[in-house]
Amino acid sequence: MFFNVSPFFIKMKKNLKCSFCGRDKKDASILVSGMEAHICDQCVSQAVQIVKEEEAERNKFGAESGFNLLKPTEITDFLDQCNWSNRC
Ligand SMILES: [Zn+2]
Repeated sequence: MFFNVSPFFIKMKKNLKCSFCGRDKKDASILVSGMEAHICDQCVSQAVQIVKEEEAERNKFGAESGFNLLKPTEITDFLDQCNWSNRC
């Protein structure tokens, strides 16, 4: 009874493959297993590249937006120059 393993479980273990590209475990160098999905080393590399490109794109937009983030001391200096009659 203790060693009775479900045939479905055995089938699942034998047929591990990447959930992204479908590559079989025997064809992949590394297959990382999640709770309900697996990913091969090549898909991980591709995903890392996509994340890097996305981050670079976001940083590019941030740098080109012209938004000037002031330091707290610069904000207080600006407000110190201000008076309510000339509305800065
Ligand atoms: Zn893959």
